[in-house]
Amino acid sequence: MNYNSTRDKKVCVSSAEAIVTGLSHEGGLFVPDDIPSVSMEEIKNMAGDGYVSRAKKILSLFLTDFTKEEMEYCVENAYTTENFASEDIAPVVTLDNQRNILELWHGPTCAFKDMALQILPYLLTTSMKKTGTDKDVVILTATSGDTGKAALEGFKDVPGTKIAVFYPRDGVSKIQKLQMCTQSGENVFVASVKGNFDDAQNGVKKIFTDPECAKKLEENKMVFSSANSINWGRLAPQVVYYFSAYCDLIKKGETKAGDEINICVPTGNFGNILAAYLAKRMGLPIKKLICASNMNNVLTDFIESGVYDKNRRFYTTISPSMDILISSNLERLLYLISNDDSLVASYMESLRTDGKYAVSEKIKNEIQSSFAAGFASDEDAKAAIRKYHDKYGYVMDTHTAVAACVYDRYADRTGDTAKTVIASTASPFKFNAAVLSALGEDVLGKSEFELLEMLRSASGLEIPKSLAELKEKSVRFDGVFDKSEMVDAIYGFLKI
Ligand SMILES: *Cc1c(COP(=O)(O)O)cnc(C)c1O
Repeated sequence: MNYNSTRDKKVCVSSAEAIVTGLSHEGGLFVPDDIPSVSMEEIKNMAGDGYVSRAKKILSLFLTDFTKEEMEYCVENAYTTENFASEDIAPVVTLDNQRNILELWHGPTCAFKDMALQILPYLLTTSMKKTGTDKDVVILTATSGDTGKAALEGFKDVPGTKIAVFYPRDGVSKIQKLQMCTQSGENVFVASVKGNFDDAQNGVKKIFTDPECAKKLEENKMVFSSANSINWGRLAPQVVYYFSAYCDLIKKGETKAGDEINICVPTGNFGNILAAYLAKRMGLPIKKLICASNMNNVLTDFIESGVYDKNRRFYTTISPSMDILISSNLERLLYLISNDDSLVASYMESLRTDGKYAVSEKIKNEIQSSFAAGFASDEDAKAAIRKYHDKYGYVMDTHTAVAACVYDRYADRTGDTAKTVIASTASPFKFNAAVLSALGEDVLGKSEFELLEMLRSASGLEIPKSLAELKEKSVRFDGVFDKSEMVDAIYGFLKI
């Protein structure tokens, strides 16, 4: 299987090359030239296996140039019980006849990004060997909070790699900021950017496509790559857990093999839900993919109207990892649906120049046949946290709460009673203040560490070890940069 660029089909690379390069040279994203299929018989067989076997099976279908040994090495080192605080890696918690929570946050940074970023360094260093690269890879990442920390944990002290992370100064939670500023490792750099996530992401994208920068790195035997979900090596591992969740539902007797389920995903950059869409195209029986947004509801409007328009107010919400107005991975969906590179290129060009584009009626209908959408305000999300706590004794984080609220409204509106998997993307302990205040606790003037304790007693859950340990760590990175200063910050870090 090869990979094409969404903006130029003639670009054709192996999966190893797609992973090393991250982004195609003309700005497009890599997509597989064929979507593999998985039969119900194979799904039933996987139901008897654990996460590691399921991951090997699904990932091998996409990374066809990896040998069996290479795949085993990557998967077995990533999905260990040392890295993940759950035997199941991504356990499914059943709340009632319809609602199942897929907990994707048992990794080292307590957010779903670990599911991909624990394996990406293995995929990347293996890919580098395969493509004969003797350069050091410089991972350059913009983060709305969770990617940055997960990438730092994945790549710290990995030989042949360096990692630089930029986060929006006022757009991440206190815990997220602490997690990043105290990062250990000799090959890491962390800084904040004045502005919001889109400013940070645009700054990073600009550096990526700047020939001057590429030349300077080349001269120093370095090459950029990305740990953002624009990298195919981030997306492929995310397909695994949707298959795994379905297998678990079969195993628990919640679902019969072949029954259709819905999947509801709290969405920002459209990576997580795109992975679910790929699973559907591969044969996982998914009825509707429910795309849940917060007040930055550009995707709700797009799915309902076919018009993507980022010219709107930007909201800073209690689900900061979804505070995004340009959802990069939507480009992959448009390509996978239309199979038309010049059309996708033209949409992306209007997005760049006018901040909007309108898809054809045909594409809109295609999208609506697979996707439903909705959004939730901060108040709605808090109400969902309270409701799920009161009704099920289950405490969820603010991002998951957006999905729970959007799902509840979807189920009411449509009367659809199919079993549904709600992707839970962060531990509630990562967003203590908002979760506690939703539960009616007074959080005023409390330190982050007092809040951790408060949430422990309110939820009956254990405080994740990595968060409890933050108290002992000192701040290593406190730089603040303007968008225009990002390049020089990187040169400084790389000493070039
Ligand atoms: C990144 C993130 C999201 C959004 O995922 P996308 O793949 O960008 O759509 C949602 N919730 C949390 C907690 C996240 O970290």
